[in-house]
Amino acid sequence: MYTQLQLPYAFDALEPHIDALTMETHYTKHHAAYTKNLNDAAQKAGVSDREIGVLLSSLDSIPDEALRTAIRNNGGGFYNHNLYFDTLSPDGGGQPQGAFGSVLDKSFGSFSAFQDEISRLAAGRFGSGWAWLSVDKDHNLALSSTPNQDNPLMQNNGFKPIFGIDVWEHAYYLKYQNRRADYVKALFDVISWRKVAENFDRIVSGQRAA
Ligand code: MN
Repeated sequence: MYTQLQLPYAFDALEPHIDALTMETHYTKHHAAYTKNLNDAAQKAGVSDREIGVLLSSLDSIPDEALRTAIRNNGGGFYNHNLYFDTLSPDGGGQPQGAFGSVLDKSFGSFSAFQDEISRLAAGRFGSGWAWLSVDKDHNLALSSTPNQDNPLMQNNGFKPIFGIDVWEHAYYLKYQNRRADYVKALFDVISWRKVAENFDRIVSGQRAA
């Protein structure tokens, strides 16, 4: 049984950056549907006991094509949104401090260079998808972008995502309409760098995500 994370703040907590109706619809409709559809498909495929990261890294082991596609789309949607909602916070924004801040600076040159780069990937993703900050197999930070509800775990290149920007229109259209870049800019005011740093620490210390 895959369980949607408990939202750690109220639907209106990220106002004015992300509006309450978008948050409520995103969490109670979109994310809830991905979660239900994942559970249904995983049960049919007999893979419900697999940890979600393991499941998404081993899609090829599901022989039935329709179930494999359902698990890819909805399992991605389930996992991606758990990560997205967990790494936002009304207390977020600013720049990462401490050890993780240093790692990020070293990887991209500066925080603003990182922000430019991931924003460029988010803007450049045609249609729906995600821009990702991941830890690679050598524990370096890496950026990438994927279509639909895919994520780096499915690519089996050793990338483990620690933060993702949802660029589906459902994430921003009510408030920002076609202005995706404005949404991405606003999202930077609510990123919880404390949570992203925890995700980084968990991976480099070899612990599995909760
Ligand atoms: Mn979404």
